[in-house]
Amino acid sequence: MDFFVYDSMSKNKEKLVTVEPGKVGMYTCGPTVYNYAHIGNLRTYVFEDVLKKSLRYTGYDVKHVMNITDVGHLQSDADEGEDKMELGAKRENKTVWEIAKFYEDAFFEDCEKLKIERPNVVCRATEHIQDMINLIKKLEEKGYTYISNGNVYYEIDKFEDYTKLANLSIEELEAGSRVEVDSNKKNPLDFVLWFTNSKFKNQIMQWDSPWGRGFPGWHIECSAMSIKYLGERIDIHCGGIDHIPVHHTNEIAQSEAALGHRWVNYWMHGEFLVLDGGKMSKSKGDFLTLSKIEENGFDALDYRYFCLQSRYRKQLIFSYEALKDAQNSYRKLKSKILSIIHSTKKDESLVESRIEVYRNKFAEQIRDDLNMPNAFTVLSEVIKNNELSNKEKSVLIEEFDKVLSLELMEEFKKDDIEVDEKLIDKLLEERNHARKNKNWSRADEIRDELEHMNIEIIDSKEGTKWKIKNK
Ligand code: AMP
Ligand code: ZN
Repeated sequence: MDFFVYDSMSKNKEKLVTVEPGKVGMYTCGPTVYNYAHIGNLRTYVFEDVLKKSLRYTGYDVKHVMNITDVGHLQSDADEGEDKMELGAKRENKTVWEIAKFYEDAFFEDCEKLKIERPNVVCRATEHIQDMINLIKKLEEKGYTYISNGNVYYEIDKFEDYTKLANLSIEELEAGSRVEVDSNKKNPLDFVLWFTNSKFKNQIMQWDSPWGRGFPGWHIECSAMSIKYLGERIDIHCGGIDHIPVHHTNEIAQSEAALGHRWVNYWMHGEFLVLDGGKMSKSKGDFLTLSKIEENGFDALDYRYFCLQSRYRKQLIFSYEALKDAQNSYRKLKSKILSIIHSTKKDESLVESRIEVYRNKFAEQIRDDLNMPNAFTVLSEVIKNNELSNKEKSVLIEEFDKVLSLELMEEFKKDDIEVDEKLIDKLLEERNHARKNKNWSRADEIRDELEHMNIEIIDSKEGTKWKIKNK
């Protein structure tokens, strides 16, 4: 069974052919740990998590490596502005090391809530300085670097086809990244490999290097660490689309110049999450975190469900109304599944060939460049299909949930129930309608669904009321 992915380099959907059959080496750019991740960042990590789990579902053995940027990332993705870690330290009156530790932990707490699996290798930039120095040395030996005002720069004009990933002209790239005129650079798109302390005199994170004490540029960490852990040919490299014109373009220039051959076989980029009213910006401090949406009555998995309803290559517009709709349909879906589980009887049939049909249907969708909306349609078909036994349905749903990670088979938490009066009213309305039409089985089904949400229905002459059980 072939797996198809959209490759940002070829700009086509491609059949995945891995370096080693049956295995995937996957590198994803990790967070810059100077602040909380916003829900846009988290959308990208959800996409990468689903990619990994989809590959695994279809039989691949995946090795996933992700970096933690705890040094070297300046305010702009090019080389301008202040160091993000130092900015965080100043803002909170802490050391850069404390900031890095705190926000790395916060990031993984968010991931845990969102059921984003921890990568096989998580590598911190500050723990791989020597690997970066070695790579810069290699580039220097091969003539791709120059020193200007104490810093080591990468000379993009030495690298053939620098613009191939972005597919833009040099002028368009310059305009897009709004590079400032920097008299140290031969070409405005040249970028720093190593900053000596001529850049920031009081930089706290500093290491010795052949070029003087200082710290690495941002892009070199991903080249150095991905090659270290995944070898010279990487199957899939991911990130958000903002990384195409600068970060990934520069990663390619560094890695391919050093290695002397093609480095990544498939580039996959997640589109942005945008707010109803515009862009989210960390620097302005007005960004939405997972904790904020939790404070507003949502569960992390409501957000995961919301992300999975659209394709990763499409922009996703966030609003609380849209999240509420997602929460409602997620709960409806779960209560349907719970009622299947609860009504499963011991002696029900379990026919492998019937399971196989839907197992393959689901796989067909996820290996079509992660067609998650269609994968959910397959899940609905399973739920509705009267020819499948409840036992067979449960087996399938449990398998699908290995990719979706929505705790589809787990009981509702008590807290989930109280907030959702709108959904309960909707279900009651539907039940009344069913009763009017003498559709007793649907009416019973709804009573059952509500039961699993811990809601008891009381029918009387005055109408139908409901209450939370055990209260
Ligand atoms: P950063 O911590 O800024 O390096 O970003 C972490 C990841 O989030 C990167 O893969 C970015 O490309 C991605 N990203 C940044 N903003 C958004 C957004 N609004 N929506 C989706 N992904 C984003
Ligand atoms: Zn990177």
